[in-house]
Amino acid sequence: MDTSSEPCKCEACGHVNRDSGVPKCEACGHVRRYRISFVAPGGKAISFGIDTSVGRNTMRRLGEAETVYVDVVQFHLRRNPDGNWFLYSEPAAKNPTWLNGVPLDEGTLLEEGMIVSFAGRLPLKVEMIPEG
Ligand SMILES: [Zn+2]
Repeated sequence: MDTSSEPCKCEACGHVNRDSGVPKCEACGHVRRYRISFVAPGGKAISFGIDTSVGRNTMRRLGEAETVYVDVVQFHLRRNPDGNWFLYSEPAAKNPTWLNGVPLDEGTLLEEGMIVSFAGRLPLKVEMIPEG
């Protein structure tokens, strides 16, 4: 949503990186930290800044009827030391977690614009929000 060039600027050294998606500054190596946000079809979003497990109670905040397809524990979010986020499906969940229409079978790197769904239900768009 933010279309300014500000997200490309390294908060440590001020170097303007060409690609706002790069987690690491080309000039000084500073690792940009992102929050992961999931945007529902109705426009509501939930975001996470720490490793966490996500299930139905959290998803209810999106105000979507298809939240019923989300299990009590549905997936897990983990951020590695490079600042990249990985998504892991909870094996016990009734509906598998899909990424871009493909069931997850191991931890998968999350990128801006990916679509997370639960066997095709409740499609959520991934947005990466730079931390200040
Ligand atoms: Zn830098």
